[in-house]
Amino acid sequence: MTASFIAISYLVCAVLFILALRGLSSPESAVQGNRLGILGMTLAIMTTLCLPQVASYGLIVAALFAGGVVGALIAKLIRMTALPQLVAGFHSLVGLAAVLVAGAAFFEPEAFGLVHEGRISYGSLIEISLGVAIGAITFTGSIIAFGKLQGLISGSPLVFKFQHHVNLLLGALSLVIVVVLVFNPSPALFWGLVFLTGLLGFLLILPIGGADMPVVISMLNSYSGWAAAATGFTLENPLLIVTGALVGSSGAILSYIMCKGMNRSIINVILGGFGGEQSAGASKAHGDKPVKAGSAEDAAFIMKNASSVIIVPGYGMAVAQAQHALREMSDILKKHGVQVRYAIHPVAGRMPGHMNVLLAEANVPYDEVLELDEINRDFSSTDVAFVIGANDVTNPAAKTDPLSPIYGMPILDVEKAKTVLFIKRSMAAGYAGVDNELFFRSNTMMLFGDAKKMCEDIIKALENA
Ligand code: NDP
Repeated sequence: MTASFIAISYLVCAVLFILALRGLSSPESAVQGNRLGILGMTLAIMTTLCLPQVASYGLIVAALFAGGVVGALIAKLIRMTALPQLVAGFHSLVGLAAVLVAGAAFFEPEAFGLVHEGRISYGSLIEISLGVAIGAITFTGSIIAFGKLQGLISGSPLVFKFQHHVNLLLGALSLVIVVVLVFNPSPALFWGLVFLTGLLGFLLILPIGGADMPVVISMLNSYSGWAAAATGFTLENPLLIVTGALVGSSGAILSYIMCKGMNRSIINVILGGFGGEQSAGASKAHGDKPVKAGSAEDAAFIMKNASSVIIVPGYGMAVAQAQHALREMSDILKKHGVQVRYAIHPVAGRMPGHMNVLLAEANVPYDEVLELDEINRDFSSTDVAFVIGANDVTNPAAKTDPLSPIYGMPILDVEKAKTVLFIKRSMAAGYAGVDNELFFRSNTMMLFGDAKKMCEDIIKALENA
């Protein structure tokens, strides 16, 4: 294949990736966006296989086969609720790949055509250093994010004294090593950089918890893009540079949007949980305060007699896979003349857009699904807030308790509705580990049970009423 044909083919791939991103920006066009992305990636792989640098197809086919089998197995076996940690796991692999490619280029520069006048050029050494630094931070940071999302590491912020000073020192030391490495490329300095930046990634993500995790995930997504772009420079592959930059910048924009939505400073999040020290004393004991518990029949009666219901879905809906039963329930309510709408918090669930995807899967009409800003004012004129498996996103501690890890995060003002129904299995706290005083309010009724089962029971009660 000629160089110009490869360049044109890569250009087409880049345009397809941009169109894919555009499509993914709205639930209506997301499927089409996904298709364009798949088409772009297929063309990209086929074109790359035609590059003159490809010496043997044996190893490539073996790697494609092994990766394809593992990917297909994961896609088949993974539960919907485990997707966020899977994404974090994948980010860590991108980071590791960047470190490995940079390592290969550093120790075998001839194979990459990087040797000029008997040494690796300064430019290539800077690219290699960047690949190592961003890759190692992404690798260890994503492993910690994986652990937090999988519940292997506490979701609460883990803070220690002088952590910001230690992070700054590690960052400065890494920078010094990069400068020295460029002029004196020794293996010891290379491994030193891997170690220091790996440690930095670990320490940056460890203290972040509670409400800041969603932003961190999209930051790591962004870092993985920049790591891929750095690899693209080392491999002199323009499509990898473009794709990496697309992922890097779109992740950064998403992080910025999420920070704004969450009322957080992006600088604080990048620097590793500045402000995380607020979190001490997150959870308050509520002793033996009384809680009003109701049944599916009670909920059916209240909602059937309401004129408006706002449904607030959260992570528990995803765990229970209750979206289909929920839609069926709201269809029945609508038949009874009740106005039903859905309120989506920007960080409900465990990944950006989590609730939108689930509701779209259950064919909930898009015009009934409203963002926090669009619907929050309406709770005060609503009869019932039906909170299904959501907790942190309704917790008023975000407004009232400066010591809470979720303080400052905007929340859905469900308590302003005449009646608040909470479906959850127990009195347990949500992801941020903060007790929710709404459970004890006089206008709250707890519906204890699995979200899907409870919706099915409410449907039965509505039909029998
Ligand atoms: P929360 O984690 O605050 O609460 C979910 C609630 O669902 C729990 O209290 C749990 O209570 C209940 N639940 C779990 N399983 C079931 C079930 N089968 N049936 C009924 N209820 C169930 O979720 P929210 O969506 O309110 O808030 C999201 C939290 O996750 C925020 O803190 C956010 O910062 C964080 N986060 C969000 C990310 C994102 O990108 N969206 C990424 C990472 C973290 P019980 O056990 O009693 O049933």
